[in-house]
Amino acid sequence: MNLSLYNTLTRATSEFVPLVPGKVGIYLCGATVQAEPHIGHIRSGVNFDILRRWLTHLGYEVTFIRNVTDIDDKILHKAVHEVMPWWAVANKYERAFSWAYSTLNVLPPTYEPRATGHITQMIELMQILIDNGKAYAPGNGDIYLSVRALDSYLTLSNQKLDDLQSAGDSEETFKKDPRDFALWKAAKPGDPSWPTPWGDGRPGWHLECSAMAHTYLGPEFDIHGGGLDLIFPHHENEIAQSESAGWGFAKIWMHNAWVTASGEKMSKSLGNSLLVSEIVKQVRGIELRWYLSGAHYRSMTEFSFEALEENCVNFRRIEGFLFRAKEVLGAEIGVEVSQKFADAMNDDLSVPTGLAEIADLVRIGNTALAANDLEGVSRAAAAVRGSLSILGCDPFDPIFAASNKGGDEAIDGLVKLALAQREAARARKDFASADAIRDQILELGILIEDTPTGPRWTMAR
Ligand SMILES: [Zn+2]
Repeated sequence: MNLSLYNTLTRATSEFVPLVPGKVGIYLCGATVQAEPHIGHIRSGVNFDILRRWLTHLGYEVTFIRNVTDIDDKILHKAVHEVMPWWAVANKYERAFSWAYSTLNVLPPTYEPRATGHITQMIELMQILIDNGKAYAPGNGDIYLSVRALDSYLTLSNQKLDDLQSAGDSEETFKKDPRDFALWKAAKPGDPSWPTPWGDGRPGWHLECSAMAHTYLGPEFDIHGGGLDLIFPHHENEIAQSESAGWGFAKIWMHNAWVTASGEKMSKSLGNSLLVSEIVKQVRGIELRWYLSGAHYRSMTEFSFEALEENCVNFRRIEGFLFRAKEVLGAEIGVEVSQKFADAMNDDLSVPTGLAEIADLVRIGNTALAANDLEGVSRAAAAVRGSLSILGCDPFDPIFAASNKGGDEAIDGLVKLALAQREAARARKDFASADAIRDQILELGILIEDTPTGPRWTMAR
């Protein structure tokens, strides 16, 4: 079975054929760095990281671009609110996103371009569009794209131009058609601006992505990704700009669904409780990653702390099997991908089907453990680990291993000492003392699991 992917553009799933054999170019719209990431923001990074890991596993050389939108109205508003220069706001939240990505084991992109580093390329693109009559500079400092100039406009979002209202992105006085959208916005007093042949100003969001995708992936490339909410107007306008410039642009458009809370798209109104930085105070990064990976990327995930906890318990069971297997085998666990897991991933990244296969493998592995069938244990453990590593949740990955070991050896020694005291109390049937020791250990955020080879501990986060 070959890899098939769902393409928003054709509204169909079809076999993936790269433009250049053996290579894949992916552009993912990254964050507008104006606030700390919540789990809705980070889901896109996780979903497309799984796609990238799977393509790499299949042997493709993947060039993965994820941009940083570091100039935008929202950033300028935030700068006023936080009484900071706009660039310091962008820098602060870019770091917050980088931290969240690495905490969730999202691999660094091949290139991570910032919009403000690509003004030259944006001006070049506008020049092409003005020269070929697709864009116009009406003299107020703005530059607009004529949407009537492009036949395929609105194909991605399946809309009709006649049904479309105004683009609503600036004063309409200078527009030839209210639906034309701004490539570039005239400088306003106090706002940052860059010089262009048509006057000083700053880029519109859509222009940024067309220019950056072209810079790193060329006029056409394989896959463009982003959240569902970007289909219109952002992605539609990216297509309009790039195709008007004569570029082939993206062949496949992939969109991840949202994380919802109480049935609604996550928004600032929910406060800080769903920030990645808050959630990883309660669960480990690997557990949050597992939770965000579990649903199909095109399915909404309704967030609740109960569901998160349920997923964590499930993950610890799988992880527990791998740790026991390693102990029993006395060797590192291999990394294999089973045919069933591969079939699931090849079917438009059907992670839920893959999870069922992982559950089966853990069951087989535990049966082998009980029967002391070391070869069976080794085979099942390698297949479990291989699947987890595609999902970015390999507990032996160095990025997570530190949290499994719980820090330095001194802590390990102290926990073992306390556990020995507890065992001694139990042996003399002083269950009150044994329970008190256990409770105090738990209060420190240390989880204890009784295994056939004795108690094992992990950090709760
Ligand atoms: Zn974009």
